Amino acid sequence: MLCMVLEAFGAPLIPQEREIPKPGEGEVILKVGACGVCQTDLKVCQGNHPAVRDVPVIPGHEVAGEIVEVGKNIDKGYLGKRVVVYAYNVCGECEFCRAGRESLCTNLKGQVGFSMPGGFAEYIKIPVKSVFTIDDNVTYEKASILTDAVATPYHAIKSKARVKEGETIAVIGAGGLGLHAIQIAKLFGAKVIAIDLRDQSLNLAEDMGADWALKGDEDDLLGAVNEITSGQGVSAVLELTGNPGVESLALELLKVAGRMVLVAYNITHPFRVNSQIMVSKEIEVYGARWCGRNEFRECIELVSDAKIVPYVGEVHALKEADSVLKRLQAGEILGRAVLVPEKGS
Ligand SMILES: [Zn+2]
Ligand SMILES: [Zn+2]
Repeated sequence: MLCMVLEAFGAPLIPQEREIPKPGEGEVILKVGACGVCQTDLKVCQGNHPAVRDVPVIPGHEVAGEIVEVGKNIDKGYLGKRVVVYAYNVCGECEFCRAGRESLCTNLKGQVGFSMPGGFAEYIKIPVKSVFTIDDNVTYEKASILTDAVATPYHAIKSKARVKEGETIAVIGAGGLGLHAIQIAKLFGAKVIAIDLRDQSLNLAEDMGADWALKGDEDDLLGAVNEITSGQGVSAVLELTGNPGVESLALELLKVAGRMVLVAYNITHPFRVNSQIMVSKEIEVYGARWCGRNEFRECIELVSDAKIVPYVGEVHALKEADSVLKRLQAGEILGRAVLVPEKGS
């Protein structure tokens, strides 16, 4: 099978032919239908991801596909099922797994596309407990990106920002995650201010339902937000860029008792904020790491019911993985790009 392999951090992904994996006990083999390409893959390839310390690696954690082989003792009924993958192989028993916060599992047995081979391949081996079936009406391209580009902002908005009907929130970064964050916040009854540096992303943000779309480098961004919110500020800010200094902006946009949720991170620029504003406004700050299994399931349903529509910006052949990553890094991709094994190969 074809797979795209990282052999050294910072080096390009290179195509390799490998044997199709064999399922062990409790495992299934997927024929990959599509795999999303994410900023986190860039971190993996650059050696900037804490879960990936060794190469070679096959990246790709946003996986959808068809079950084509099952391991010993697994019901043959799984064969032919269309599924998406919950990328963390969690223990199911620790304090956080039992609380439905599986993305914080303290006894992780592996992560697809990080410490386990990922979806930048034609086939992939997955623990059967990590696959979730999807409806026939959801394409693999859309399904693949729901696993992260929908599920991550869903968790951030539902469980961390706790967005309520009638609130106005700001989404900073209208990229792969942001375009879905807008849809999700609207679903929760909020009004949404989308902020981005790129005109095309702002146009897309409006298409996704953003009530206002503002340029991040606008001279008087704060004034514009104050005007929208009658001088109050927003109830919550979702920070999806990891850009240096954006946390100070987020803090200024928030009203009293506002919630700041950090979804993106930046390992070279530490988070710095004005503690006086934090204290006097009683600002709440959260990190949000992916999603729990129940939230994952809820996202699958919302996409099945077309309440959230995953926005696939571009579709490319698997062997183009490296050039897609380079364009993602250059900020040239609108929405989420996905890789598909068959296209043009
Ligand atoms: Zn991702
Ligand atoms: Zn656990």
